[in-house]
Amino acid sequence: MWDLLLIDCDLATMAAGAEARYGAIGDGALAISDGKIAWIGRRADLPADFEGLARAIVTLDGCWVTPGLVDCHTHLVFGSNRAIEWEQRLNGATYEEIARAGGGILSTVRATRAASEDELVEASLPRLKALAANGVTTVEIKSGYGLDSDSELKSLRAATRLGEIGDTRVRRTLLSAHAVPPEFKADRTAYVDLIVGEIIPAAAKAGLADAVDAFCETIGFTPAETERVFAAAAAHGLRVKLHAEQLSDQGGAALAARHKALSADHLEHLTPAGVQAMAEAGVVAVLLPGAYYFLRDETPPPVGALREAGVPLAVATDCNPGTSPLTSPLLAMNMACTLFRLTPEEALAGFTREGARALGLQDELGTLEVGKAADLAVWRVDDPSELAYWMGATPLAARFVAGRETTTPGNA
Ligand SMILES: [Zn+2]
Repeated sequence: MWDLLLIDCDLATMAAGAEARYGAIGDGALAISDGKIAWIGRRADLPADFEGLARAIVTLDGCWVTPGLVDCHTHLVFGSNRAIEWEQRLNGATYEEIARAGGGILSTVRATRAASEDELVEASLPRLKALAANGVTTVEIKSGYGLDSDSELKSLRAATRLGEIGDTRVRRTLLSAHAVPPEFKADRTAYVDLIVGEIIPAAAKAGLADAVDAFCETIGFTPAETERVFAAAAAHGLRVKLHAEQLSDQGGAALAARHKALSADHLEHLTPAGVQAMAEAGVVAVLLPGAYYFLRDETPPPVGALREAGVPLAVATDCNPGTSPLTSPLLAMNMACTLFRLTPEEALAGFTREGARALGLQDELGTLEVGKAADLAVWRVDDPSELAYWMGATPLAARFVAGRETTTPGNA
């Protein structure tokens, strides 16, 4: 007996290796039991007695169904935002002037530290709802604006609560190695000691982190410091991810590959050796066109080389207050196509199958296949290429998480 049967829809299964574009099944049907996909195929191939097999049947009026979108790289828990500072820059203020006035990432750190856990949840929920209204059913949320034990754990608890109240699956990543906080400016090693000796163990013990990340960059953490953070993560049984090669080549992708990272993210300055290392270790490349766009970067990641080497390509919003205030996965897909030359099918795979892989969830989510979670996005489009094509559209008709239809998207 099925809990629910969806009919009168086209299915973009996004299954790996499928012959049809988007792994499509025209005039399909999808059955759900216990929150998982129990049957999928052409409506014409349903068992003759299908009406007696389902407790409920829903007609989707010819909509397209895709896997629920997986936004595998966000920083969406933070206090305040930086719109005014952005406006000041456009009015001619320099980075130095803004930094001297206490702007930049440190203004977000101050606001995040000052906010209570409740206030962080309240500030972040509209961003989560915006993602959900655009089809996201799983989101990764990083800490990294607390930069001390209490504030980092507070951010991860806020992320955990967003997962409990927001009808969206949340994976939490500890990113204490995001920036050196002002109180450690004279002794950065002491801050890495704090991350390694206190914050990672505390987050692991409290079960608040699913992975550990670092910002390996000249303005972030050195490869040697990143190594220490990764070693501590491994000692506490946590997988790693890395902000790598965004602004310069630090050999971060190869470092990530040596540590069997889930993903290396950004990659604008990735070298051929980095591509090779990622391919050999099966590290997912997470492309973040929102940050590239907002920073008006001019060096795109080497997508052709990554594709040729068989590195899985994920795409994410990188939702954050400084460099990518983006809450639309569909616009991120459009940017991945226009700025990085992904195909619309690659962009959708980047937000489904490969996004799930970047979180280590590829056996549970990310494609429409029997046994996987019934996390679905239902779209009012004639073809899945439209998901990456329209700029600013919200064609979501319905959304299911673990087989349960969630808040009406328009009211989210
Ligand atoms: Zn990021």
